[in-house]
Amino acid sequence: MSRTNKINLQLSGLEPLFITEESIFVNVGERTNVTGSRKFLRLIKEEKYNEALSVAREQVEGGAQIIDVNMDEGMLDGVYAMTKFLNLIAAEPDIARVPIMIDSSKWEIIEAGLKVVQGKAVVNSISLKEGKETFIHHAKLIKRYGAAVIVMAFDEDGQADTYERRIEICKRSYDILVNEVHFPAQDIIFDPNIFPVATGMDEHKLNALDFFRATKWIRENLPYANISGGVSNVSFSFRGNDTVREAMHSAFLYHAILNGMTMGIVNPEMLEIYDEIDKTLLEHVEDVLLNRRDDATERLLDLAETFKGDFKVNEKAIAEWRNGSVQERLTHSLVKGIDEFIEIDVEEARVNSAKAIEVIEVNLMAGMNVVGDLFGSGKMFLPQVVKSARVMKKAVAYLLPFIEAQKEGKSSSAGKVLMATVKGDVHDIGKNIVAVVLGCNNFEIIDLGVMVPPEKIIQAAVEHNVDIIGLSGLITPSLDEMVYLAKELDKLNIKIPIMIGGATTSRAHTAVKIAPEYKETVVHVNDASRAVTVASNLLQAETKEGYVKAIREEYDKLRDGYLNRSRDKNFHSIEEARKNKLKLDWDNFTPVKPNFIGIKTIEVELLELVDFIDWTPFFQSWELYGKYPAILTDEVVGEQATSLFADAQEMLQKIVSEKWLTAKGILGIFPANTINDDDIELTTDNRQLTTFLTLRQQSQKTAGAPNIALSDFIAPKDSGKQDYIGCFCVTTGFGVDEKAAEFEKQLDDYNSILVKALGDRFAEAFAEYLHLKVRKEIWGYASDENLSNQELIKEEYKGIRPAPGYPACPDHLEKPTIWKLLNVEQEIGVTLTEIMAMWPASSVSGYYFGHPESKYFGLGKIKEDQVIDYAKRRGISTEMAMKWLSPNIAD
Ligand code: SAH
Repeated sequence: MSRTNKINLQLSGLEPLFITEESIFVNVGERTNVTGSRKFLRLIKEEKYNEALSVAREQVEGGAQIIDVNMDEGMLDGVYAMTKFLNLIAAEPDIARVPIMIDSSKWEIIEAGLKVVQGKAVVNSISLKEGKETFIHHAKLIKRYGAAVIVMAFDEDGQADTYERRIEICKRSYDILVNEVHFPAQDIIFDPNIFPVATGMDEHKLNALDFFRATKWIRENLPYANISGGVSNVSFSFRGNDTVREAMHSAFLYHAILNGMTMGIVNPEMLEIYDEIDKTLLEHVEDVLLNRRDDATERLLDLAETFKGDFKVNEKAIAEWRNGSVQERLTHSLVKGIDEFIEIDVEEARVNSAKAIEVIEVNLMAGMNVVGDLFGSGKMFLPQVVKSARVMKKAVAYLLPFIEAQKEGKSSSAGKVLMATVKGDVHDIGKNIVAVVLGCNNFEIIDLGVMVPPEKIIQAAVEHNVDIIGLSGLITPSLDEMVYLAKELDKLNIKIPIMIGGATTSRAHTAVKIAPEYKETVVHVNDASRAVTVASNLLQAETKEGYVKAIREEYDKLRDGYLNRSRDKNFHSIEEARKNKLKLDWDNFTPVKPNFIGIKTIEVELLELVDFIDWTPFFQSWELYGKYPAILTDEVVGEQATSLFADAQEMLQKIVSEKWLTAKGILGIFPANTINDDDIELTTDNRQLTTFLTLRQQSQKTAGAPNIALSDFIAPKDSGKQDYIGCFCVTTGFGVDEKAAEFEKQLDDYNSILVKALGDRFAEAFAEYLHLKVRKEIWGYASDENLSNQELIKEEYKGIRPAPGYPACPDHLEKPTIWKLLNVEQEIGVTLTEIMAMWPASSVSGYYFGHPESKYFGLGKIKEDQVIDYAKRRGISTEMAMKWLSPNIAD
């Protein structure tokens, strides 16, 4: 074919680039992409544009024929960054030589790039995702700007994931572009979606093969169009195993090019030369890509193990540390959390020791002391400590039979600590992390688990003669359980110090409400990294007296300050507060009638939830603080966060493909109106009424601010407008405990905690996913909403989903109402404990409010008159109401 502009794709920077059937495969450099390169992201964020330019330069020098520039990151001003970077490139002839691929999922960023880019660029990408009209609009503009375009195989129904869908969407896109937009056919580049293979899911088996076939079909049926794709996606399941990934990329490209792929986004460093791929590996990889055998995935996974972590490099590194003394090796394994050699090394230490127990007391403790020091000085973080503890556990387990045979007692421990999550509470991630950290600092842990009634805690404490009782709780009613337990211990004259921890606990609550009930020390420790210091201080003879005295003085002062604080807050009576409610303009508001009214259960594949995960709280649960994804490049915790994240991704993949968890949800949407200011009355299908009780702020506000209750966001009955409310419960918790128990059995606390943390992430993601469906479809009050993931996570949408137990509605007794209304327990199996915690733990429930002005707020403190009124409305005793609302009652 000739190289004329008519039928061949021609791009240009300062120099032209012809893409023809004879030209070699065009590789697009991908390092100037903030979503794919942490380094590049950091440089752009810190406005180090000069260094960012050198990333571009390195790529061009390294042979990239086009460079992909992407500035899509939640924290970045993408338009600004794209404009600035492309302008700078234009002034660098050695970079500007090659064409630019303007890569963004946001049209305004693409257009910003088109406005300044020099030469003939490629837009990456457009699709029919948002409908034909938008597609045509964007295509016309791209044509006017004179760029080529990548078209994703995506339409209104989603991404094409079969051969048939790929060709159907590409054909439709092509016809629109060529016939309606008159887009030059040679300027169309299809990306028919490269998806991961070897994920373990049957529906992924044809992912590569379908891509090859679709590529061939497009080349044969859509004249002059080109084919591109992001290659690294195909090896997604093997993240962390570069040898296998490189082989997969090369083999994939080999076949894709044979079928007509002309360009692609690849990292040249992640490519092995096809002919140099280990022959066995190649065969296994091609079995998977071409779906040549039913067991191809299993066989490749097995084989991949032997290539784990680039073994060429690794073998050398291993050889080096394996040359050290046995103590050096043990310490290395413990510090790095490597369990591969621990038994061999422990055995060597054992035969060299007089007694097996000495290996623990001398060698392993020496190693753990290094871990302790690194952790104490902030050079190591919790995830890694938990990994170290896993190695320690395995070492000890190996030694135990020898120790027992030698009939020795246990090695002397630093102290015995009982750990328990209090009655009715189900959360234990934080508690488990503390237990592991204490355990690897030589404390003996007696872990009673979750939902432990006070009598059981007391009995175990006495029976095991423990030195410390550690109590944990997540939700507010747990605070009362802790107070109760302190009272009971005091009555029984027990003298064991208590450590308090968990999400709703605080130093103030501990000092004011718990400590006065117990003669012994009560200390608040919310930070796993401080637990060791506190526990040692409490127990070591040298420090104990001074420490206990200091804590007592500190808490006494805190309490006195609290009790004698000048109460500058004034309160309204509940009637006055109601008069000062938030008055929305109901006359000019018409509630959107829901597309669906009633109750329905919801099923969803875990895979669909992955994109909705908010990762920031995941890192928090491991005490790594910072926003995702910036946390991955954080100076201090970046490395740890990245390694934890990689482990999480690996497990995530298994959770999804092996279906470790099940997602179940239920929701209801009902006609509703507010009555008597604070009650929301719902009509259910059999015309029965259910009432949600809300609580109203009572503290006097400045500048005429209203005293809000959630009921203010629902039209009052006397407005004459029919309004609506929804409520829901979702869970991904079934399966979590079983998996966690399996890991614990293998002495693997790290993965046990990881699966729980991921279970929680999925539950929150499910809540986010369902809320989106409610807004756009099921209720449909925001059917035209179109937000990015980042915007979803920031909850930038209209309407709210307040959760009982949270600041706007701290009343946990609203949960039984939701449960009864939706029949939650029978329908999806989630139950409520005696203190209204949801079981299983990875569950989320709440209401839906659709009014665009509805927003989150804090109830703050309320007065007794509202409590009395509430007791009446709820039909419970005032005493009971006092108990449930106690964290919010002003004293
Ligand atoms: N993306 C986070 C979401 C959890 S916290 C995660 O994955 O962990 C945010 C949720 O808490 C909100 O959606 C809402 O359900 C609840 N919430 C936050 N503030 C609230 C308030 N003041 N009153 C009631 N519920 C609130």
